[in-house]
Amino acid sequence: MAHSQNHQPYISSRAAALDGNSLGELFLLARERGAIDLALGTPGYPEPASDIIDAAYEAMRGGRNQYDHPSGDVLLRERIADTLSTPADPLTELTVTVGATEALCVALLTVVDPGDEVVLLDPGYEQFKAAIALAGAVPRFVPLHAPDWRFDPAELAAAFTPRTRAVLLNSPGNPTGRVLDRQELDQMAALCEQWDVTVICDEVYSNFVFDDRAQTSIMEVPGLAERGIVVGSLSKSYAISGWRLGFLRADPVRTQSLRRVHELTTNGAATPLQVAVGLAAVSADLKTAAQEMGRRRDLALEIFTGMGMKISPAEGGCFLFADVSPLTGGLKDSKAFVLELLDTAGVLIVPGGPSFADPSRGDQYVRIAFNRQADLLREVERRIRAARSVE
Ligand code: PMP
Repeated sequence: MAHSQNHQPYISSRAAALDGNSLGELFLLARERGAIDLALGTPGYPEPASDIIDAAYEAMRGGRNQYDHPSGDVLLRERIADTLSTPADPLTELTVTVGATEALCVALLTVVDPGDEVVLLDPGYEQFKAAIALAGAVPRFVPLHAPDWRFDPAELAAAFTPRTRAVLLNSPGNPTGRVLDRQELDQMAALCEQWDVTVICDEVYSNFVFDDRAQTSIMEVPGLAERGIVVGSLSKSYAISGWRLGFLRADPVRTQSLRRVHELTTNGAATPLQVAVGLAAVSADLKTAAQEMGRRRDLALEIFTGMGMKISPAEGGCFLFADVSPLTGGLKDSKAFVLELLDTAGVLIVPGGPSFADPSRGDQYVRIAFNRQADLLREVERRIRAARSVE
């Protein structure tokens, strides 16, 4: 039988619907120009603790190189439990995942069926839309309103329907830096109870909350706690984003199902790296790291508001979400602005579009990561000043 010369691979509609990384082209340009990257949340600050790195080496040398418990190293689960604001049973309520990225997909695949609706805030973390699509679910976006990125309770209530299966939150938030306060969480709780839906909350930035503000986990809020799944990560708090360690927190019944899905997606994160964080007397002082991160936020605010951007200070997380319209007069979109900054100052930031359900809503916004070494931020300031003095 003759083989077809022009075979077209069949791609599932699930995969074909995914947009892929919208920033690839910008990264290539940035690399060519030796630009300073303030695009991704890849930690440049804090530094990973040297004792975890030693412990990883020792774990590998000591023979911890094979499959281990798919739900995660028990010592690591205990250590994670110690960092949580309310008690969680490491054996029945915590599952170690390959980053929050896996945790998010596992949570959605465990909770929603194709055609179910998932309520989420807009703008939000870019991967939420894609993960909802992968699960075959339908997003119901609730707009957050500038300048302080809060939702209108009536608009939130209107997003719930009999098809709503889950609410997907992120606090502290990417890209807005918002930390959902107790009143907002109580409003969510009332609706989640009324419609009997699950709440999934990405709390990967929970250790980075500024100005003595309280970070409230959904697990502290009656109405959310008993129907909640927390997605967590060690990527940012321990500055080990390449180790790919995250976790899921949920009640024992949901956890059993989450673990079945997790056994299929990855069957566990890297053993020696889990052992390392579990064993090491980790010196990462999370409180000091949060204060230090707050200082970097202040420095980034000073640099970019100094340039003329309008910014509501991030309450937590590692991003500023900035309005550049005072600089562009609304004449160009934020992608053109980002390319110009790359060209003139050698600094890479991200256009706002991909964070919105309707990318045109992001035309006047850019996202700036500030989890970087202070010296690097000062170099950014110097480059921007130099570029502007030439203009
Ligand atoms: N959630 C949010 C809100 C994020 O910003 C990121 C990283 N950019 C992640 C999850 C991914 O975390 P991880 O490295 O643990 O997969």
